[in-house]
Amino acid sequence: MSTILLEVATPDKGEVFAKEINMLICRSIAGELGILPKHARLLTELVPHAMRIKMDGGETQLFIGGGFMEVTPEKITILADSAEMPDDIDVERAKSAYKRAEDRVNSAKNKGDAEIDLKRAEAALARAKARLLVKGVPIP
Ligand code: ATP
Repeated sequence: MSTILLEVATPDKGEVFAKEINMLICRSIAGELGILPKHARLLTELVPHAMRIKMDGGETQLFIGGGFMEVTPEKITILADSAEMPDDIDVERAKSAYKRAEDRVNSAKNKGDAEIDLKRAEAALARAKARLLVKGVPIP
């Protein structure tokens, strides 16, 4: 089966993932994308989500907290705001972040806060949800 190199790095941690994979399913600002080897060149922005990586006959998930992705026929490069492999996700921290973000979203809506506050709270909620999804934790 043909492969494409996937490299994921963050400003905090440097390289988080670097392996030959068979397929990447990720979410950009324009919607879901499936990237196979020899994909056309592409530059796009990713939203916070649980990215799906098909490799070695199985599938693994990787949390991406948003960022930029460049695709060439041989390589996918992602510079993410934050990224974690499943084993590196702290579930209790993600649960607390989820509750905090949910409260902030509700209060920003009720108080009619500035649009930017609501957007920030929604992004924090999306990150917490995606982390819990990667860990298979039911979302309250
Ligand atoms: P929190 O409010 O808990 O900090 P956050 O979504 O605001 O969550 P980020 O800004 O995405 O956090 O990430 C900041 C740093 O903390 C990154 O290095 C990220 O990998 C790490 N991080 C955040 N949440 C978790 C978690 N639940 N488990 C492991 N690492 C985490």
